[in-house]
Amino acid sequence: MYRTHTCGELGLKDSGKEVTLCGWVQRSRDLGGMTFVDLRDRYGITQLVFNMETDKELCGQARKLGREFVVQAKGKVRERSNKNLKIPTGEIEIEVTELNIINRSELPPFTIEEETDGGEELRMKYRYLDLRRNSVKNNIILRHRVAQEVRKYMDSIGFIEIETPALIKSTPEGARDFVVPSRMQPGTFYALPQSPQTLKQLLMVAGFDKYFQLVKCFRDEDLRADRQPEFSQIDCEMSFVQRDDILDTFEGLAKYLFKQIKGVEFTEPFRRITYSEAMENYGSDKPDFRFGMKFQDLTTLVKGNGFQVFDGAEYIGGICAEGCSEYSRKQLDELTEFVKRPQIGAKGMVYLKCGTDGTLKSSADKFYSQEDLGKWAAAMDAKKGDLILILAGEKNKTLTALSELRLEMGNRLGLRKKNTFVPLWVVDFPLLEWDEEEKRFFAMHHPFTSPKPEDLHLMEKDPGKVRANAYDLVINGVEIGGGSVRIHDASVQQLMFKVLGFTEDEANAQFGFLLNAFKYGAPPHGGIAFGFDRWVAMFGGQDSIRDFIAFPKNNSGRDVMLDTPAQISEKQLNELQIKVDLKKQD
Ligand code: ASP
Repeated sequence: MYRTHTCGELGLKDSGKEVTLCGWVQRSRDLGGMTFVDLRDRYGITQLVFNMETDKELCGQARKLGREFVVQAKGKVRERSNKNLKIPTGEIEIEVTELNIINRSELPPFTIEEETDGGEELRMKYRYLDLRRNSVKNNIILRHRVAQEVRKYMDSIGFIEIETPALIKSTPEGARDFVVPSRMQPGTFYALPQSPQTLKQLLMVAGFDKYFQLVKCFRDEDLRADRQPEFSQIDCEMSFVQRDDILDTFEGLAKYLFKQIKGVEFTEPFRRITYSEAMENYGSDKPDFRFGMKFQDLTTLVKGNGFQVFDGAEYIGGICAEGCSEYSRKQLDELTEFVKRPQIGAKGMVYLKCGTDGTLKSSADKFYSQEDLGKWAAAMDAKKGDLILILAGEKNKTLTALSELRLEMGNRLGLRKKNTFVPLWVVDFPLLEWDEEEKRFFAMHHPFTSPKPEDLHLMEKDPGKVRANAYDLVINGVEIGGGSVRIHDASVQQLMFKVLGFTEDEANAQFGFLLNAFKYGAPPHGGIAFGFDRWVAMFGGQDSIRDFIAFPKNNSGRDVMLDTPAQISEKQLNELQIKVDLKKQD
């Protein structure tokens, strides 16, 4: 038997027991006649002790142990004189009587400690060593726990987990497909699913009225901290439901997970706001509701005093930062610089300080009387001591810039607390988005999303105005999930393809299998998919999903450990009848 116990379970209650432990050498220390070795495994760290006086040879052996050696130690549990109450096993140690080196280790390229000296690239190259670090290991265990809870809950409410294939035909989720060449039908390709969207709809036609799957999805797009070329979704679909049935069901899942994983209980229903309210009031379709600072539209109020910045603007909006009227020149300059960054794009910022003594001071007070400024303050619902920040310009751009400014003020005022969670549903997204470059509409969600029935008549007349029966679950400014009620009527689906610019033949070539299925009794259905990695990262209190994935890719989509993507052999290419002819990049 390799071991009787793990390195994380022994305590005072076990004093006197003869035990055998296995693990990795975290570190060893020689103190005069004693040598101490910290032995680590997945469960924790236990201190081994060797005494020069009682067993010189064994102690000599222990002194030769290097970091990350795999060893087996036999001995007796005893109370420690110098206790470490920070770890569960810190009250005991093992007085070792036998030591076996199971495997030696080269010196690891970085220290396997919480505070490591290894940079990101190095840690990714040796990810199996990085995964030995406590924080990363715990993230992976957290991921496992969330997955188990998802399965438990979904099963308890009658959902069936069904696997769908990974070699499929292109699914239109708005990104580029990863493709896989077929050897048996040379010159043809599978696509890896951007999501199992069409397949889960086919499962509804098949009569499985409650489906879910923890599933890998693949999207060939530019990467950011919260994106990976392959990622996981909790993918769900239901039949014979309307929007609110779906929202209620998955609000149940969200509440359950928060309770089980974070111990957070939501007793009230999640707030629901429409996409247009979110955009008008917060400049974002995923507003962070941990704090207020709702926008006020000041356009009509402030125009007409000869102040060019305002008079020439399509939209003028403000936010009110409580208790910030004492902001210094320097702080205000910093904020102005912030909004002028190219990625934010405002031309400048106007402020109004509502002093604690009742004075009103603005950067535009050349153009406005105290009475005018008083009206601004009233419109903004500002109190003495508050600071009003105003941006002006083209409407959509200004709303977006104001949203960034709001988040920045939220950060500065400490209003975006890590352990506060405020979920909300954003509903009624637009069905279509106009693409200026291609001069055509694209589906904002995907082409199977149902228009709101009351907007159906606008489909051909004014497609940009049609609202979708689509929704997102947003938590703390992060889109955690999104879905929609689907089109289940072949004629509406055909109309949708028409508006998207597909000819009937193109639509049939691409989605004939779905249109065909809809001829055989498609039930009304709808669903949602949650970004599983993101949700786990949020539970783990971090922004980047990378540390919650055992073997992630870097920002250029490379797995630096496997050293891939890589070339394949001439033989493989020949079997596929593929000739690589790289175009020169300039
Ligand atoms: N397939 C969609 C997505 O991946 C989610 C859904 O509509 O259920 O975003």
